[in-house]
Amino acid sequence: MANKTKLLIATSNQGKLKEFSLLLPDFKIISQKSLNLAPEEETGTTFYENSLHKARAGAIKSSLLSLGDDSGLIVPALGNMPGLRSARYAHENATDEENRNYLKNELKKIGVNKTKAYFVCILTIIKNAEDPFPLISTGILNGIVSIESRGQNGFGYDEMFYPKNYKESLAEMSLERKSEISHRGKAIRDLKNKIDKFSK
Ligand code: IMP
Repeated sequence: MANKTKLLIATSNQGKLKEFSLLLPDFKIISQKSLNLAPEEETGTTFYENSLHKARAGAIKSSLLSLGDDSGLIVPALGNMPGLRSARYAHENATDEENRNYLKNELKKIGVNKTKAYFVCILTIIKNAEDPFPLISTGILNGIVSIESRGQNGFGYDEMFYPKNYKESLAEMSLERKSEISHRGKAIRDLKNKIDKFSK
C-alpha cells in the first residue's frame, strides 16, 4: 500500500482532532502537539481569516501539508455570540464547561431556556507557505441551543446543542453519527471534493 501523505492538523483541540482522524483516513494525521507546536492566536475578524492563518502558520512551522479549522457556535438571539469567541467565551483560558455555563447564564439573562443557533466550520488546506491557492471549505449545522445539557460524548457545546429535526443532543450521538450531519463533517466532505477537483 502506498505511503499516506502526512497532514498537519493545526489545532490543539482534542475533540476536533478525533473527528479529523475519523474523517480523513487517507492521510497520516499529524497533531500540533506531537511536533510541540504552540497554538496560534486568533486575531482575525472572520472565521475565514483565522482558518487560513492557522493553516498557513502550521505549514510554515512544520513544512507539511497543513489543515486549519476555525469553527464556532452562533446564537442570533445573543447578537451572534459566542461566534469567534466560542473557545474563550467565559474568559481567555476557559474550559468547555466554563464556556457552557457562561452561555447558559447569557440565555437565562435574556429570559430563554432555548433558542435557535448554528455551528459553522471553515477549513483551509494549504500545501506550503508559498501556496497561492489554499483550498477553503465550509459547513453549517442548524439547531437549537438549550440550557439543558444531555450526553457525554463530544466536546465544546455539544451537550447543549440539539440539531434541527433530531431529539438528541450532539453529545448523545456517536462520533460517526455526529460527523454525518455536523458542520465539520460537511466541511470535510466539501474539502475532499475540492481536493479531487483541483489537486490533479
Ligand atoms: P476554535 O476554532 O479553536 O476557535 O474553537 C472553536 C470552539 O467552538 C471550540 O472550542 C468549541 O467551543 C466550539 N465548537 C466548534 N466546533 C464544535 C463542535 O463540533 N462541537 C461543540 N463545540 C464546537
